[in-house]
Amino acid sequence: CGIVGYIGTDDSKEILLRGLEKLEYRGYDSAGIALLNQEGIHIFKEKGRIQDLRRVVDPAIQAGVGIGHTRWATHGKPSKTNAHPHQSASGRFVIVHNGVIENYEQLKNEYLADVPLQSDTDTEVVVQLVERFANEGLPAFDAFRRTLRLLKGSYAFALLDKEDKGTIYVAKNKSPLLVGLGDGFKVVASDAMAMLQLTNQFVELMDQETVIVRKDHIEIYALDGTKIERKPFTAQLDA
Ligand code: GLU
Repeated sequence: CGIVGYIGTDDSKEILLRGLEKLEYRGYDSAGIALLNQEGIHIFKEKGRIQDLRRVVDPAIQAGVGIGHTRWATHGKPSKTNAHPHQSASGRFVIVHNGVIENYEQLKNEYLADVPLQSDTDTEVVVQLVERFANEGLPAFDAFRRTLRLLKGSYAFALLDKEDKGTIYVAKNKSPLLVGLGDGFKVVASDAMAMLQLTNQFVELMDQETVIVRKDHIEIYALDGTKIERKPFTAQLDA
């Protein structure tokens, strides 16, 4: 239902939690965050409210990179297990998703028959596919785009790779997603309101676009690899 992300030099935890609180009005049944630092990926999720999630987040963990999600279940009941972020089998990749992957059953049967899935969601299939293609030798961004080309349905994704601590990968199709630009940091949000406290400069993504988000710059690509240039717009607070 809602997505946030941060990459920069500040600690991402509080930024993500506050961003998710700004999206609460949209409704949700569970929430979670993934933090990426030198030790690896740390995932916290909970059924219920953001304040319930706050209670399980380890305050000792500092991380300059993170993604967060409020879920409105479409596939799999509302539960801690089905809450996002979802992680790949080896633990390398972690993803949050808004939308519905219509062909997830078919993809699961075709590519993931030997992978034990942890959740009942359509989303987990996506992160397991990214890992499958990375295991076959593709660099992370190529594995992500190969996965995206197989998907039917709607998505906004934010993806982290434990082996690349300086990047958030994002993609969008028929679900909104924006990348916010700051000096020395970047943010990701399904709604600019979630991150307006940090920046009002946002780049809007079009359907079937992917972005490599780093703290100092972003690169937008079409699914076929064509590079896209787009200027940011200034987001206004709604009266
Ligand atoms: N289809 C996904 C799920 O059920 C995402 C739902 C959402 O957009 O929150 O987990």
